[in-house]
Amino acid sequence: MDYQAIFEKAVGALREEKRYRVFADLERVSGRFPYAIWRAENGLEREISVWCSNDYLGMGQHPDVTGALKDAVDRMGAGAGGTRNISGTNHPLVELEAELADLHAKEAALVFTSGFVSNEAAISTIAKLLPDCLILSDQLNHASMIAGVKSSGMHKQVWRHNDLEHLEELLKAAGPDRAKLIVFESVYSMDGDVAPIEKIADLADKYGAMTYIDEVHAVGMYGPRGAGICEREGVMDRIDIIEGTLAKAYGVMGGYITGSSALVDAVRSYAPGFIFTTALPPGLTAAATASIRHLKKSCTEREAQQRQAQRAKDVLSAAGLPVMPSETHIVPILVGDPEKCKAASDMLLDSHGIYIQPINYPTVPRGTERLRITPTPLHDDVLIDSLRDALVDVWTRLDLPRADTDPNVTATAEKMDQDIFTAAGG
Ligand SMILES: *Cc1c(COP(=O)(O)O)cnc(C)c1O
Repeated sequence: MDYQAIFEKAVGALREEKRYRVFADLERVSGRFPYAIWRAENGLEREISVWCSNDYLGMGQHPDVTGALKDAVDRMGAGAGGTRNISGTNHPLVELEAELADLHAKEAALVFTSGFVSNEAAISTIAKLLPDCLILSDQLNHASMIAGVKSSGMHKQVWRHNDLEHLEELLKAAGPDRAKLIVFESVYSMDGDVAPIEKIADLADKYGAMTYIDEVHAVGMYGPRGAGICEREGVMDRIDIIEGTLAKAYGVMGGYITGSSALVDAVRSYAPGFIFTTALPPGLTAAATASIRHLKKSCTEREAQQRQAQRAKDVLSAAGLPVMPSETHIVPILVGDPEKCKAASDMLLDSHGIYIQPINYPTVPRGTERLRITPTPLHDDVLIDSLRDALVDVWTRLDLPRADTDPNVTATAEKMDQDIFTAAGG
């Protein structure tokens, strides 16, 4: 058997569909966020500005955060030394979990090596522990949640994105006695829309279901202490499990769940994705704690991010660019064609020194290919104006659709069939 040919053919199929992924060679410049050095394929180096980072507040370069990391490395070294099962828990992790439980006003927290791992490990373990559990999963859930649903092996039903009537129908049909786990996100990262969390919690109470929310694109950024949308809406206590990442707005790495002591202890005790892997190292752990502590007290970054995101929406819309409706800090611009989306991204980088990664199927439904822009507090007004000029140039050169064409396209079509290979990417 020609094994290599099989892999080449698989990748060739992606190229043919124009969804082969290319990763730009970028080097972030500490203290100069959002600038980075881009190394083109011809070997040339150039300074560019990045507009699609998930380091949403620039915390990855905050002196409190980098200082905590350096200090912990100096005191405790680079690695964790093993799984917590084997090597015990490094003290910075004890502090981080206390900080997270406090952040979400829950009894306990558990840290994983990434947000992906936290979703995969926690959802699969919780669902497996609940007898004959029915998982009710939002249609647009992230790949990591779908991976958790799949590896639980339990029965799942997908409810239409943010559709409360559909969710209620499924809950009702399952009956009051069956164990039910509702899994969903607060901020959906490709459209920037928000789940009706309180109403979902009401339905969960009415039909006796547990609730699991992914607040990955909200923690650090919403709520008075940065605990997310549940905090902003005063409903943290209505949701059983709140999951988040330390890698996006907090600017470091790692993932976590928070919930009751009993639930967290069960996941700690049963989840292979937690037990059999080396813990997050002390440097990253201490850096994450410093970031959370800073954002618990400071609203400056959150407010500036909202202001710059709104300004970007206004300025780009006023220039006739098709900004898709978004209630959050995410600014998607519709292209609607995979090849043109890639071409627009390439042209922005080549001609304007602006990096915005193209978002194509399967991350979003076909026909809704887009550029996803995430302005941060460090993208100032001048930078936003230069982004507008660059986009207008690219839109003209590629003859891309303007704002008046099909504004109703949202990422709901054709995604009822959740599959790990067709799930959204963070
Ligand atoms: C990025 C992302 C994750 C995974 O978090 P990481 O810490 O990057 O592994 C989980 N859920 C959603 C919605 C994401 O976008």
